[in-house]
Amino acid sequence: MRRPQHRPGLTQVAERGAVRVVFLGGLGEIGRNCACIEVDGRIIVLDCGVMFPDPDMPGVDLVLPDFTYLRENAARVEAVVLTHGHEDHVGGLAYLLRDLEVPIFGAEISLGLARNRIDEAGLSGRARYVTVADGERRMVGPCEVEFIPVTHSVPCSFALAFHTPQGIVLHSGDFKIDLEPVDGRRTDLARIGALAAGEGIALLLSDSTNAEEPGFTPSETTVGATLARVFAASAGRRVVAACFASHIHRVQQVIDAAVGSGRKIATLGRSMAKNVELAQRLGLLTVPPGSLVEIEDVDRLAPGSVCVISTGSQGEPMSALSLMATGDNKWFQVADGDVVVISAHPIPGNEWSVGRVIDELHRRGAEVIHSGTDAVHVSGHARQGELRTMLSVARPRAFVPVHGEYRHLVHHAGLARRMGVPGDQVLLCEDGDVVRLDESGISRDGTVPAGYLYVDGTIGDVGHGVLRDRRLLSEEGVVMVVATVDLQRKALTGRPQIATKGWVHAPEAEELLEDASAAVAEALVEAMNDGAHDVEVLTRHARRALGRLVNERTRRRPMIVPVVMAV
Ligand SMILES: [Zn+2]
Ligand SMILES: [Zn+2]
Repeated sequence: MRRPQHRPGLTQVAERGAVRVVFLGGLGEIGRNCACIEVDGRIIVLDCGVMFPDPDMPGVDLVLPDFTYLRENAARVEAVVLTHGHEDHVGGLAYLLRDLEVPIFGAEISLGLARNRIDEAGLSGRARYVTVADGERRMVGPCEVEFIPVTHSVPCSFALAFHTPQGIVLHSGDFKIDLEPVDGRRTDLARIGALAAGEGIALLLSDSTNAEEPGFTPSETTVGATLARVFAASAGRRVVAACFASHIHRVQQVIDAAVGSGRKIATLGRSMAKNVELAQRLGLLTVPPGSLVEIEDVDRLAPGSVCVISTGSQGEPMSALSLMATGDNKWFQVADGDVVVISAHPIPGNEWSVGRVIDELHRRGAEVIHSGTDAVHVSGHARQGELRTMLSVARPRAFVPVHGEYRHLVHHAGLARRMGVPGDQVLLCEDGDVVRLDESGISRDGTVPAGYLYVDGTIGDVGHGVLRDRRLLSEEGVVMVVATVDLQRKALTGRPQIATKGWVHAPEAEELLEDASAAVAEALVEAMNDGAHDVEVLTRHARRALGRLVNERTRRRPMIVPVVMAV
């Protein structure tokens, strides 16, 4: 029997036993990872992340997945499961919980990291957290879910195996195959192999971030060796180490290197302090007693006894490290001879900001050690060798690459085909695509809305219109005209006032502004004489007259803002 290729309709419910995977984010971009696993029409949400904005999204703080599908099917959503605690996987929960009240399953640290934003949003009361342990298999909504340990750049990450009526759907989560991880918790290939050898894996969804990179990502412990070397070579000097606050293993290695070279440690940046506290409480971070000091106290220590662990490795403008670079950090001033280690790699899009921070730190006389100068960072994602290992161990009958920009997905799909997954069972999907799994394998099953949802401050969605305006303002500036008309006399009460920002430099503009004012006045009088007598119509005339003159004389198209008032 042939199925229709496209089955539109948001509230489409799969028939009994059918399994659908709905991709809401993360396929075609790094960030805002979110998918639905649907069994018998009952929905489990897999991760709910944010994306950090591109430079062409002025004033946008975050980008969320499109929640339309989840909202319209809220009654069918039964749970959220988390692979791990990175922002691109949990940062959207604070927004999703406004619409849905469902339990959230995850490792304790993942839930702890997710909580930060949820509590900030004042939604603590709506969140119900369910802690799961390594290897645990339990009912979550419509099916059993198994939480399989994987190694990644945040502790206690999981791959998730969904035991569905159509077989096992395995989601790799973000992973690497680190054979000597800092905490000894390796990616559980043996369990994945056992699932493959038993029931078999019907569908594998796997992390594509590093699918273009040949070989294997080095072990996290190699960074520890480099850090120890850097700290030893920096004897007698203060060391600042910046890394992701959630990268507890990296923080551990910085602490080990610092303590090993006789230093005390102070944290800088709110999330660093929070996460160090959280990880210590959960037994995931070991700090020798007496090693932690307050940041206020580091000035009292000898330079060779100081290590500051800081946030801001991505060059974020208001972060601890950026403020240090500009001399605006009230807790810590970078001085001549300090050593700054940036133990991270810029996320695509952040290279420019990180470069500027490095430059400024040099101006202050610091020595800066970063991933371009030393092996002070390794990725948390699998390269081709590890992706092939995963495919080889899991032996999936069908495959969809996830978590990556489009080119990463294409490369990963190619790997899967070369590893023997049948060509028609490797689907290249993007945000909004729906995949159906049944006894004959996977096939496309229509699409759902999956646009970007822009967040600015506490405003939910700033919308495409606002963003278009901001781009126009940033590129062309604005010209505003204010005119007051006397409708009775069909005349203006004075000259229209023109104000501009970011358009043309004032002295050259003087004549232009005069002419613009005159053109608007003329257009308004003419319109009134032609019978126009409402402000809205007159506003349109003012806009047209001003726009035409500006465009003719400057060949630019700034934003035109006319304001016409009547007396
Ligand atoms: Zn991650
Ligand atoms: Zn991720």
